Amino acid sequence: MNDLEKLFIGELSDAYDAEHQLIDTLPKMAEMAHSDELKSAFRQHLEQTLGQVRRIEEVFQSFGETPRRRHCDGLEGIIDEGELVAKEFENNTALDAGLIAAAQKVEHYEIATYGSLCTWAKELGNDRAFGLLKEILDEEKDTDEKLTMLAMSGLNVQALQHDTEKRGETASKFAKIVS
Ligand code: FE
Ligand code: FE
Repeated sequence: MNDLEKLFIGELSDAYDAEHQLIDTLPKMAEMAHSDELKSAFRQHLEQTLGQVRRIEEVFQSFGETPRRRHCDGLEGIIDEGELVAKEFENNTALDAGLIAAAQKVEHYEIATYGSLCTWAKELGNDRAFGLLKEILDEEKDTDEKLTMLAMSGLNVQALQHDTEKRGETASKFAKIVS
């Protein structure tokens, strides 16, 4: 095994662990979210994540390796921060905005990981692995975009409106800008 392949398998093991952490976390986020759209976005991404785990296992196999997990500290940190926000804003109208922000940090982390893995799979001449990883990368990018749309579509505005009713017109101005 050459150095790049070693690096690739290590990073893949990290991603495999990260997806498992998310399988535990996404149902909690769906449960917590106030809006039905956000709940369903989290549930849909949970389904995708289960498929991503299977694809990662195929990538391991395409390199003749047994799937293994290496604890992903980075994702654990992002999840921990999200839990703090969720706790602080529980029963608060800004909760969904906070959950979206936490979820987008996860997606950006994943996009960075799968972007690198795609590049390395290509460099290692493993087209099968590249194809599978590219499918995952595209799902993460779609999810990130969907979360941006949800953030812009009114969840944040509603939170802001509620919060600023006492403080003037900022919210309605903001609502006009994004509508
Ligand atoms: Fe993922
Ligand atoms: Fe994801």
